[in-house]
Amino acid sequence: MLLYNSLTRKRDEFIPREAGKVSMYTCGPTVYHYAHIGNLRTYTMEDVLEKYLRYIGNDVTRVMNITDVGHLSSDGDTGEDKMLKGARRENKTVLEIAKYYTDAFFADCEKLHIKLPDVIEPATNCIPEFIKMIETLLEKGYAYEAGGNIYFDTSKLDKYYVFNDFNEEDLAVGVRDSVEEDGNKKNKADFVLWFTKSKFEDQELKWDSPWGIGYPGWHIECSCIASKHLGEYLDIHCGGIDNAFPHHTNEIAQSEATYGHEWCNWWFHVHHLNTNSGKMSKSKGEFLTVSLLEEKGYDPLVYRFFCMQSHYRKNLVFSWENLDNAKIAYEKLVSRIADLNTAEGDIDEKAFAEGKKRFTDALDNDLNTSLAVTALYDVFKLKTNDKTKYELIKSFETVLDLGLLEAAEKINERKAKEAAEENAGVDPELLAYINEKIEARKAAKKAKNFAEADAIRDELLSKGITLLDTREGTKFTIA
Ligand code: AMP
Ligand code: ZN
Repeated sequence: MLLYNSLTRKRDEFIPREAGKVSMYTCGPTVYHYAHIGNLRTYTMEDVLEKYLRYIGNDVTRVMNITDVGHLSSDGDTGEDKMLKGARRENKTVLEIAKYYTDAFFADCEKLHIKLPDVIEPATNCIPEFIKMIETLLEKGYAYEAGGNIYFDTSKLDKYYVFNDFNEEDLAVGVRDSVEEDGNKKNKADFVLWFTKSKFEDQELKWDSPWGIGYPGWHIECSCIASKHLGEYLDIHCGGIDNAFPHHTNEIAQSEATYGHEWCNWWFHVHHLNTNSGKMSKSKGEFLTVSLLEEKGYDPLVYRFFCMQSHYRKNLVFSWENLDNAKIAYEKLVSRIADLNTAEGDIDEKAFAEGKKRFTDALDNDLNTSLAVTALYDVFKLKTNDKTKYELIKSFETVLDLGLLEAAEKINERKAKEAAEENAGVDPELLAYINEKIEARKAAKKAKNFAEADAIRDELLSKGITLLDTREGTKFTIA
């Protein structure tokens, strides 16, 4: 599979360290508010990546943190603690806020068919591990104490800014710290590993440490939680593009300084969901949630479909009009699947392989989900039986997970129920006979044997049964 790597800035064949086994890490949500549909775009695309890696035969172990401490509003070392902000907004404790929004995130994932990672670890579970890693960094000379806080010394690295060629000027903007200069830092790019003398007097969650009572910085949590469950090496690390700097850059600095070797080979970054006024963000306060989509009558899986229609490395602009178009396309697709006659025929291996190749070609090409959706439409054009088409879609759905088969089944159940209600008074034997004739006529029409189809209609007519072709299928009346 060819996959873009933000580290090398090119597409390369994705090869895990151990053939067939992938260790994958995902930056989890900061649980001070609902996840917005932008955050969920990132998790949706990561979910497709995980499912596709499994589809092509890998055993994937995926770990995700839950950020419930240490993430400041600047993404660096300044600004308000996001969790405190949430707690204050709702007059609750930080832990109450964390629990509520973690559960809300899980509920959103379920609605969007985002599989939860194998391991999910809240940052506040891992304080001893953070302290241990910071101690190692101090011992190795990569960290220093100043003004009560522990900082990472970026000047000790041969290489920093792996994702961006920052110069000093870019950095001033990049770290967004220029407003509040921290005089304790030896270098502008240094960042806090552990806060003890912070300006956040009302910090709610604090722990004892060798450096005094305090709390961890945001970046250390991902380095630690990843290695706690996946060891010293990672095959792939995922997140939204805004995490590339400073968060992921700092994760690399910490992990490689701790272990003394390269840490993660592959960085998968999903680009942003934007609105007309720019990036959707929680801190702006105006954002869309899955619940809001539902309130407005959209199935969350329509949003998943909307995400699939564009490439993860392009910004995606959200508008209600675009979502409406996705909804129409989704519903048409479902109804075409509902029309497939799955009862007949065996799987046509040749056609199956041909259809599957189009799908894997698309996803092997840097996870091109929009081409994968095209491959799904192409299934209907294949010269093969409905059974094969259905089985192909079923196979694609293990990756795309759009709920198409379930939605199609619901349509067929509804149709069957309606037909049963309409035909409630008809003698069961007669009904079985009519249905058999209707199916035979449908098959004849499909085979373009119109004479046969007409003959069946006339045979029924001679018995006083009139057929009526409707959008919901063929119905009948009895004279
Ligand atoms: P947060 O909860 O802010 O820590 O963000 C959770 C995930 O969503 C991270 O991987 C972010 O990089 C990502 N993210 C944030 N905003 C957006 C957006 N507008 N579009 C896509 N992903 C985003
Ligand atoms: Zn992270």
